[in-house]
Amino acid sequence: LPELPEVETTARGLRGLLVGRRVTAVGGVDWPRMLPNASEDRLAQVLVGTTVTAVDRRGKYLNIHLDNGALLTLHRKMSGNLIVQGSEDPMPKHTHLTVRFDNDRELRFVDPRKFGRVHLFESLPEALAFFDDRLGPEPLEDLTATRLKELLGRRRGRIKSLLLDQAFLAGVGNLYADEALWESRIHPLRPSDSLTGQEIARLAAAIGDVLTKAIERRGTSFSDYLDAEGNLGDNQNYLKAYGREGLPCERCGSPIRRIVIGARSSHYCIRCQPAKGSRGTRRKVVS
Ligand SMILES: [Zn+2]
Repeated sequence: LPELPEVETTARGLRGLLVGRRVTAVGGVDWPRMLPNASEDRLAQVLVGTTVTAVDRRGKYLNIHLDNGALLTLHRKMSGNLIVQGSEDPMPKHTHLTVRFDNDRELRFVDPRKFGRVHLFESLPEALAFFDDRLGPEPLEDLTATRLKELLGRRRGRIKSLLLDQAFLAGVGNLYADEALWESRIHPLRPSDSLTGQEIARLAAAIGDVLTKAIERRGTSFSDYLDAEGNLGDNQNYLKAYGREGLPCERCGSPIRRIVIGARSSHYCIRCQPAKGSRGTRRKVVS
């Protein structure tokens, strides 16, 4: 599933392809539920004739900014891909929206499972209000140990579940949560208020580290993620925990175990991510 690094990679790819281009047509909407706050007609009214000024990201939302102040905001959810192709190229199956540009290329939103969503915001403040309602801070903007401690102080729960909550922290999903917890040697089921200062510092650093490295590798591709030019990412070759059930931990050689938390799989090392955490371990050693 696309998470922050995959959305960032797509935004960077689309920036090079779309900024400065003028929208000449919008079409192909065959699944109206994909447009929670607009219609195909309304998209065409607002977008045709405008020029793309920027492409960026907030959490897992990708934003295309237009010179009339509007934003086209796309969320790929489970399986959506955003691909730019020539308007004469064969239309990929499951394309649910096309935006054509003045160079005869089209942005195609391809989404076999139809969970993806496209919002139209007519101004930046409208978009920011939408994001503020749903999203916590960006993990690549100043997520220090102090900041993470402050965020954890406001919420309670299992650490893995908190990391997946977009209102707690924006952009981290199941894969990068598992990787960050492996990196910081924290068991996914640890209650958030049991983490030591040291563990919080390790976790803050690990979140930044796994996301930054994944962006450098152009995201993780399993079955369905492609970047804006239709290429696979490379980060799947570097995973330490996610999808590695039964394989040896690269740090200690013990097997990676998979458990299910709230219908999502979690992968962790049975030895370097102890369920009781370092506090529990220390007490045991003393007694
Ligand atoms: Zn291990």
